[in-house]
Amino acid sequence: MQAFAEKIHLDGNGFKRRAVDVLQVNLGRYCNLACIHCHVESGPTRKEMMSRENIEAVLGFLARTEISTLDVTGGAPELHREFDYLVESARQLGRHVMDRCNLTVIFEPGKEYLPEFFKQHEVELVCSLPCYSQENVDKQRGKGTFDSSIRALQQLNQIGYARPDSKLVLNLVYNPVGPHLPPPQEKLEQDYKRILAEQFGIVFNRLYCLTNMPITRYATHLKLRGEYDRYLELLESSFNGATLDQVMCRNLISIGWDGSVYDCDFNQMLDLPVTDAAGKRLNVASLGLEQVANRPITVGNHCYACTAGAGSSCGGALV
Ligand code: SF4
Ligand code: SF4
Repeated sequence: MQAFAEKIHLDGNGFKRRAVDVLQVNLGRYCNLACIHCHVESGPTRKEMMSRENIEAVLGFLARTEISTLDVTGGAPELHREFDYLVESARQLGRHVMDRCNLTVIFEPGKEYLPEFFKQHEVELVCSLPCYSQENVDKQRGKGTFDSSIRALQQLNQIGYARPDSKLVLNLVYNPVGPHLPPPQEKLEQDYKRILAEQFGIVFNRLYCLTNMPITRYATHLKLRGEYDRYLELLESSFNGATLDQVMCRNLISIGWDGSVYDCDFNQMLDLPVTDAAGKRLNVASLGLEQVANRPITVGNHCYACTAGAGSSCGGALV
């Protein structure tokens, strides 16, 4: 396999972030689900959680910049005890908040208030629903997940999410169940809209198609099935240079639960932090925008997943 940096004719120094528009914060690894494709290796037994001190550091950084969007992820971020505080504080700072929600979390004990909380703070929801078929969703995310996800979407629609003229945005995320690239996003979005409306009366705004990242738990899953090498070859042979301008690391930084700074969530999972000139990892508590804006991005062969085919980012296909 040709190294990604070579492929894009760079030694890693010429591939730079532009301005930072999105601050993505990973609140920890704890999740009520344990999906096969999870690049965070989240699950109910994980203990890592962002401390209140680091939450304050995130808010401090937001306040001293003009970054417009806070993108909250995990694990299941809503199960973090400071989730509500973080969202409320970011909204008070006038920032847009996105929550990467697994839908089923609103049925966890004590979390029934979440839909109204999201509504009150106009939180944009980005919700994983890897298929409109029960069989595929339950295979990837666990038995019963599809039914709960459908019930959650119906509840969100009932309070106004994705309704015409509503400010409440509800986007869905598709990722392939098997080791292949996602199909064209617009066509699949039409299929999702038709089938979810017909069968369940559900509406949503956009469908984001994501390519599965062959790292951590998903890499192990592929290796166990003898599919890892073939999947990597597929990603490399599908490289599309037109995506390079739009990959999410170009306008986003990612903060880990311990406050470390990364170019993206994937580099975070591979422990490839952003460092200073002395090689010391940066921390959000003392981070200045000049340390990340217009700075080189660390790339690796995993970047082929973002640049294959139509490309893939936290906002779906790129080109
Ligand atoms: S819901 Fe999301 S964070 Fe939780 S295990 Fe599944 S993919 Fe990972
Ligand atoms: S994995 Fe994707 S988002 Fe992360 S550095 Fe590589 S290209 Fe950028």
